[in-house]
Amino acid sequence: MRELFSIFGNPVKHSRSPLMHNSVFQEMDYPACYTRTLLEDGKMLRETFLAQKLSGANITVPHKEAAFEACDEVRGFAKKIGVVNTIVYEDDKLIGYNTDADGFMYAISEFDSIKNIIILGAGGTAKALAAKFLEEQLTVTVLNRSKGRLDYFDKLGCKTYTWEDFDLDSYDLVVNTTSAGLNDEELPAPLEYIEAILDSSRYAADAIYGKVTPFLKLAKEKNITYKDGADMLLGQGVLANELFTKQKLSRKAIQKAMKKSFLL
Ligand code: NDP
Repeated sequence: MRELFSIFGNPVKHSRSPLMHNSVFQEMDYPACYTRTLLEDGKMLRETFLAQKLSGANITVPHKEAAFEACDEVRGFAKKIGVVNTIVYEDDKLIGYNTDADGFMYAISEFDSIKNIIILGAGGTAKALAAKFLEEQLTVTVLNRSKGRLDYFDKLGCKTYTWEDFDLDSYDLVVNTTSAGLNDEELPAPLEYIEAILDSSRYAADAIYGKVTPFLKLAKEKNITYKDGADMLLGQGVLANELFTKQKLSRKAIQKAMKKSFLL
């Protein structure tokens, strides 16, 4: 029988996940199909997943924390951070995982000597990355628009600031994890801060993919080596597909087929 997978988000129509996973299924003759589901209320995630009889799903903005709540069991790194981006249906249970952080580590592996990182934003992606960076013994600063979400990062051991009390340092890498620039032309923080941070950083990365955001445009103008979120997307997708296909396909083959879909 053909298995069905989906991506849950709001908005979700921009997501490349269906194309990426369907490319693997098609290329590898794996009997599955991947669709997308617009979900307005995160509390409906579990019910919707079960009603669609899904074998698995990915979860994107703004439901990754709701996805954690929706699972019967959460494994590995996702458990540590309370953020789920991949669900697999196993023995009548929803099992949650997080593949974003490892996907990002894969994406920045070509940047050398990264020790001190500043993260812009404090949402689900920021949580995953901050916890992963600290696990890797890196120094992490978080700058967010508002204070509400910073508690988590304080407890984790990051330096945290809002736009009101920001104190500049020098960084190896600045990462934009806010959604500023996704559907608008906004910067992740006021221009003077972004300019100062970029002037004090060796590399810049954006979690947003498929466009050069105003943040990356500025990095480019300043001749800073940068990358958008495409490699992160590929990394998290390969790891999620491995979970969906229960390790029946090799990681190398998944990566090759999925990478091809980026050219479509
Ligand atoms: P969340 O909704 O959990 O968090 C969003 C964060 O962005 C919050 O800290 C929020 O601040 C901040 N923010 C939102 N709008 C603005 C703005 N205009 N200016 C400044 N700050 C803003 O989102 P996620 O962490 O799940 O995702 C964030 C981004 O990362 C999305 O664009 C998503 O597409 C991308 N992403 C890409 C991936 C990839 O594979 N390439 C994987 C995962 C995510 P506040 O707390 O003040 O509201």
